[in-house]
Parts: sequence; C-alpha cells; structure tokens
Amino acid sequence: MSRTKWALTMIIGGLLAYAAFGVLWLIGGGAGLVVLFMVSLRLHPRRGCSFCGGRGRFYSKLFPWVFRLCAHCGGNGRVLHPGIQYLGTDKQRRNLRRDVADRRAGRHYRERG
Ligand SMILES: [Zn+2]
Repeated sequence: MSRTKWALTMIIGGLLAYAAFGVLWLIGGGAGLVVLFMVSLRLHPRRGCSFCGGRGRFYSKLFPWVFRLCAHCGGNGRVLHPGIQYLGTDKQRRNLRRDVADRRAGRHYRERG
C-alpha cells in the first residue's frame, strides 16, 4: 500500500470514528496509532530510499545501460527510517547517527543491523 493510500485510509477511518464515537475515541485512536508505529519501527527500521525510489541507481537517459549509485543510500535502495531517532532502540539510533555522519562525510554506505 502506498503512503498516500494509507494516509487517506487513516483520515477516512478517523472521520468515521469521530462521527460514530466522538472526539475521545479519535484521540484514543491517534494515541494508539503512535504506539503501534513505535512497535512497528522497532521491527521494521528501514524504508525505501526516497531519492532513488528504492532502486539504488540512476540510469543515464542517453546510454540506458550505464548508471551511477544513489548518493543518499549508496546504491542500497533502503535507508533507516528517520523516526527511529526518537522511537528506535539505542542501537538503531546509534546506527542512524553513523549513517548520517557517513553521508555528510561522503563515505560509502555500510549496512548496519
Ligand atoms: Zn537511494
């Protein structure tokens, strides 16, 4: 499911919950979603790279068999989700800080646990 589709589903679901049960249920549902997202981030700390669309490569328009690796994800196609900065485990936060430092220093991406 795309993120847009997911957001639309949540908005419609939220409006329906509000219509059916009032504002307290809406707040409860929102808080429940945050908790579920925290749990989910610990289990699924990565997402597709938004710069290359998860492909990890940019192909030449003129010579389509040659490519360069995406500088953001280093050709990996996936990055650690920035939300783990706040919600992840200590190890995930440490790995995210190292990834960001590596990118800033122009070092090649390394896969971390
Ligand atoms: Zn990328």
